[in-house]
Amino acid sequence: MIITDTHTHLYSDSFDDDRDQMMQRAFNQGVTRFFIPAIDSSYTKAMLELEKNYPDHVHLMMGLHPTSVKDNYKEELAHVEKLLSERPFVAIGEIGIDLYWDKSTLKIQQDAFRYQIKLAKQYKLPIVIHCRESFDEIFDILEEEKGDDLYGIFHCFTGTIEQAKKAISYNMKLGIGGVVTFKNGKIDQFLNQIDLKHIVLETDSPYLAPTPYRGKRNESSYIINVLEKLSYIYGITKKEIADITTANSKDVFKV
Ligand SMILES: [Zn+2]
Repeated sequence: MIITDTHTHLYSDSFDDDRDQMMQRAFNQGVTRFFIPAIDSSYTKAMLELEKNYPDHVHLMMGLHPTSVKDNYKEELAHVEKLLSERPFVAIGEIGIDLYWDKSTLKIQQDAFRYQIKLAKQYKLPIVIHCRESFDEIFDILEEEKGDDLYGIFHCFTGTIEQAKKAISYNMKLGIGGVVTFKNGKIDQFLNQIDLKHIVLETDSPYLAPTPYRGKRNESSYIINVLEKLSYIYGITKKEIADITTANSKDVFKV
C-alpha cells in the first residue's frame, strides 16, 4: 500500500529534534510520497535541505502563502519567480487568501494570488490553494482565471457540499486531512456524495492533527487515521482509498 501525503510541512522546525524518526514512522505505515508546500523565502533553505535528505520521497512546491503576503510581497514574489526559473517544482503552493488572520491585507493577497496563478500557467504547474474564511474571494478569482490550464488542489477543504462541487468545477481536487476525523468537522457528513476521483489525502503537519491526536503536533504517519475515516465514509478498504488517492495525486503533480 502506497499512501501519499499531498500537503506536509516536513521542514518545520517542530521536527528538528526527531525528523528522521518521524519520517521512519511514516515509511513504516506506507506513507512514501510527500508533497511539500512553501510558505515564504525564510523557509526555502530548510525545504532544499529536506529534499537533499529524502530525494526519492520529497517533492517541493514553490509559492507565497497568503499569511506571508505583507508590505514586502513583491520581493517575496520575485523570490518565488527566481526559484521557479532556476530549478523544477511540482506545484505553485500554497497560495490563496486567508481572512482569518488578517483582513487588512485582502487587496494585496488577491494581487499575489492572481500573480501566482499566472506563474502556474506559465510553468504549466498545478496550484495548491489555501482558503480560510475566504471561499467567495477565492472563487471570484478562479472564475476569472478558469480554463484547461488551471487545475490543482483545494488544500484542507472544510467547506459545504456546494462549495466542494464548485471547487471541483474549477478542476480542483479536495485535499482531505485531519478535519474529517473531528466530531464537528462537518465534511464527513457529505463526503460520500463526492466521487473519490476528486479526493487527495493530506496531513498539513505539523498542524491539524487528526483524532485521537487533535491539538498535538501532527506528522505524516497520522494520515492513517484520515485513511481509516475515509474507508468508513466510502465503505471500501483502506488499500482502495490509498490506491485511488495516490493515483489522483499523480494526476495532479505528474510524479
Ligand atoms: Zn499548509
